[in-house]
Amino acid sequence: MTTVLAGYGLTKKYGATSALADVDVEVAERDSLAIMGPSGSGKSTLLHTLAGIIRPDSGQVLLRGERIDDLGENRLSALRRKRFGFVFQFGQLLPELPAEENIALPLMLEGVPRRQAVQRAQRWFAPLGLEGLEQRRPGQLSGGQAQRVAIARALVVEPDVVFADEPTGALDQHTSREVIRLLTSVARDQGAALVMVTHDADIAGYCQRRLHVRDGRLTDAGQHTVA
Ligand code: ADP
Repeated sequence: MTTVLAGYGLTKKYGATSALADVDVEVAERDSLAIMGPSGSGKSTLLHTLAGIIRPDSGQVLLRGERIDDLGENRLSALRRKRFGFVFQFGQLLPELPAEENIALPLMLEGVPRRQAVQRAQRWFAPLGLEGLEQRRPGQLSGGQAQRVAIARALVVEPDVVFADEPTGALDQHTSREVIRLLTSVARDQGAALVMVTHDADIAGYCQRRLHVRDGRLTDAGQHTVA
């Protein structure tokens, strides 16, 4: 299996707090990895370090074998826009834009003309079960629909990796399962790896692997399960 994203010897301290302590992680193409652990254990710090948002104090982050943790801020933010997709707990959609333009936004930021960007965005409505909702604004969508729009927005750039931070944290159990099923299957079909933070064991169960973090350290090796 080809490793798409890796972190080796990742360390991050905030004062006396060790948010990451010598963490090694490898993520393969189409892999899905859930990062689990109690509040304050270092899950978000690990996700953000792998995503090039937080710079580690030591260690390396590699995307397809190339170091990204030492890139300058401009190159790093361009890389995040092109190669990564992000899904947050609360969709963070722009309230004044219809769903199709919310999805098209990352393409427009990359310079794709609006019409083309919207056409590419429209392809995501069927696979995510959102047909007919193209013109709806976020306020006219249910929580689950809004998260599916956020998933499409993360995938529209055809990223190497999708990072999701508690993507179902604001949804009821039934909707959470529907959204996580779509997120894992659509990411895999698209060829993207998924790295997700969740405190919910049921949701983590939809990922191929789980890592447990405590006090900034991994407490297991991310056992493989059949999805
Ligand atoms: P989790 O996502 O598991 O809740 P975090 O990665 O957010 O944990 O935090 C890990 C530890 O690092 C916690 O003790 C937290 O208080 C601390 N921490 C995280 N970010 C900062 C920051 N910007 N400044 C100071 N301490 C931080």
